[in-house]
Amino acid sequence: MDSVNDVATKAAQVSEAGQKHLYPPPADLAAAAHVKSLDEYKAMYRQSIDDPETFFGNMARQFHWEKPFDSVGPVYNFDLSKGPIKIDWFQGGKTNICYNALDRHVAAGHGDDVAILWEGNSPDEQASHTYHDVLDAVKKFANVLKSKGVRKGDTVTLYMPMVVELAVACLACARIGAIHSVVFGGFSPEAIRGRMADAQSKVVVTCDAVMRGAKPVQLKTQVDAALELGKDDFTVESVVVFRRLAGECPMVDGRDTWWHDEMATVTADCECEWVESEHPLFMLYTSGSTGKPKGIVHSTAGYMLGSWATFKYVFDYKPGEVYWCTADIGWITGHSYIVYGPLLERATTVMFEGVPTYPDAGRCWAICEKHAVNQFYTAPTAVRALMKAGDDFVTKHDRSSLRILGSVGEPINPEAWRWYYSVVGEERCPIVDTYWQTETGSFMITPLPGATPLKPGSATLPFFGVQPVVLDDKGVELEGEASGFLAIKKPWPSASRSCYGDHARFESVYYSMFKGYYVAGDGCRRDADGYYWITGRVDDVINVSGHRMGTAEVESALVLHPACSEAAVVGMPHEIKGAGIYCYVVLKDGQVASDELAAGLKAIVRKEIGPIATPDAIQFSEGLPKTRSGKIMRRILRKLAENPAIDMAELGDISTLADPGIVALLKDGAMKLA
Ligand code: ATP
Ligand code: MG
Repeated sequence: MDSVNDVATKAAQVSEAGQKHLYPPPADLAAAAHVKSLDEYKAMYRQSIDDPETFFGNMARQFHWEKPFDSVGPVYNFDLSKGPIKIDWFQGGKTNICYNALDRHVAAGHGDDVAILWEGNSPDEQASHTYHDVLDAVKKFANVLKSKGVRKGDTVTLYMPMVVELAVACLACARIGAIHSVVFGGFSPEAIRGRMADAQSKVVVTCDAVMRGAKPVQLKTQVDAALELGKDDFTVESVVVFRRLAGECPMVDGRDTWWHDEMATVTADCECEWVESEHPLFMLYTSGSTGKPKGIVHSTAGYMLGSWATFKYVFDYKPGEVYWCTADIGWITGHSYIVYGPLLERATTVMFEGVPTYPDAGRCWAICEKHAVNQFYTAPTAVRALMKAGDDFVTKHDRSSLRILGSVGEPINPEAWRWYYSVVGEERCPIVDTYWQTETGSFMITPLPGATPLKPGSATLPFFGVQPVVLDDKGVELEGEASGFLAIKKPWPSASRSCYGDHARFESVYYSMFKGYYVAGDGCRRDADGYYWITGRVDDVINVSGHRMGTAEVESALVLHPACSEAAVVGMPHEIKGAGIYCYVVLKDGQVASDELAAGLKAIVRKEIGPIATPDAIQFSEGLPKTRSGKIMRRILRKLAENPAIDMAELGDISTLADPGIVALLKDGAMKLA
């Protein structure tokens, strides 16, 4: 960490050019921030590592504990040769995350503060829900769940759009110690079926249908189809349906009931179930970018601490501010940074039902203006899409309330970063590029806006309690400037505890590769300042003539080309080099594919990275295969680059693909190229 010492001083020396430019925190923002300088961050970080008992113990004591913990821990085993992988924080304690997110604030006199600012798909629909309102609804829905026989430790599947009732249902589960399993409300019946077979929940909560942009999305009929498909694998006794649209909705007698009817029959009295610190809070599937999604399990107390602390420090949230994360609650980002983190900090969190391009590409900025949003948090895929739409959509809206911008989900290309920084944030707002995973529960590597000088494309430095290391192929820790496997040495509070019903899978995926480490599956580079750069998935590393190349860096070079909107890079078999570099390129609107353009793209990669990275093939494409959460599925592109004639069946699990039609387009393009 010592090399970080010099970062601030170096800021002045480093040239403005290229990726090396440092963006120091704005002085006024730093002066008022929770963490005001790099030195303060470093001191806190040091204590979090050397004395977690004091550091995390003090943080945790601000929460309500029905039974105080005996010790902070962590008690853990990361070494499979010594027995099962185990992580245990706050031993002996009993608490409830719903109590801490709602009751605690209402009891302290903040019941009238706005908890959730809901913005509908249509710009004229909005609603504001106070802490008191949300608590009331949660207690009632917890009683509904109890009336359906749900008890502590049972799972409940939630297949809902972005309505407030989804947050209410999550918190109601937590209140009674039930484990929620949110399934993204755009998945196919087959994808729902698989997740339900895993969870074995007797109760499903869903919605009739919802408008996403100009398109209606049916949810209830998808659930019905999933239940039919899975009738031999699991039994669902009750389906509770929230009414969002006025249309037809098939209901099965004796099984299906309406949310509003159920809520009318229960009282708003419901005590919390006090659960042990390690009691499972929820299970959630990873995005499926690299393979079959994993049903990740999170704990109560450790997750509560992690989601809260990261939210407060990374977004530098202050009472009264309005915070907006554009993710869907179907992903971990929505769990930690729309629901739990913000509510634990008594924030006002915006929940958006629609899509960023409806009614036009200015919607996000219109919402920022309307609600005077202070922190705006989105994914690089959205930034690139909005950048492609042009600056006018942004600049016609007042964004003066914005203080901090955030990015999550993929490495953000420096080009997109700079656009986000200068056009959206008017060079005033630090960008927090938050690196983390479903498995980590909360941020791992991230700037603190008042403390960390930024480098576009780098997630910068570790959050409190996180000890990242860079390992070589043999699992040896590398010192100083290095590239290799990103791994973590010791448990942080919100680390996942298992894969639901399959601890062996959990151990083999994350802990078997290198003894004693959590292996994230991402490659990374640590620079001379100790900054971390995520270079892409380990599976995606391309070995060109013995040089290991991260896909993210080649993609960022391609995106620098003025005609290129998005790029995805994979390895292809190459007789001499072992692997060649195959690039899929999506052009900006109005650009036309040509040999000259391909040559220009090759040249820019050669110039930015070096001749070794020169692309071997460039395929222009209308789009890229992405997961429902907007991430590029490179494993599909890799298989297509290897063999354009490949059978769909050999592409692996594509149930999380947003638009399967893109595969045929890509195959077609590759055939022409070959
Ligand atoms: P699966 O594990 O099923 O393949 P997934 O890894 O995409 O899916 P998530 O847990 O949603 O599922 O995503 C975590 C991954 O996203 C990280 O491992 C990393 O590859 C990428 N990621 C997230 N945030 C960042 C970031 N700020 N910078 C770089 N990469 C990021
Ligand atoms: Mg993953």
